[in-house]
Amino acid sequence: MTIKNVIAHVECDRCRKDFKVRMETGDAIPEGWDLMDLATDAVRGGEIHLAPRQTVTVDSCSVAGEGSGLEHLCPACTQAEDAKQAEAEHA
Ligand SMILES: [Zn+2]
Repeated sequence: MTIKNVIAHVECDRCRKDFKVRMETGDAIPEGWDLMDLATDAVRGGEIHLAPRQTVTVDSCSVAGEGSGLEHLCPACTQAEDAKQAEAEHA
C-alpha cells in the first residue's frame, strides 16, 4: 500500500491558530525525512487545505526563519510577515 497524501492540522507558531495542509507522501520523499519535514514542506508550499478536492493559494501559509528556528505561519501571520518584509525593504 502507498499512502498518497495526508491532511495535517498544523498549529501556527505565532498565533496558535490551526490550519490544514495536504502532505504529499506518495512520491519520492527525500531520504531521512520524517513527518515534521513533510509538514514543513507542505506549509512552505503555501497551499492551505480547505476541504476534500479544494486547496487555495491566495491566502497562503509559509515558513519563516532558518535551521532550528523555523516558524510555520498561518495565512494571517504570513500576510503580516510579508507586510513587515515589504516595509523593511522600503525603509
Ligand atoms: Zn498565525
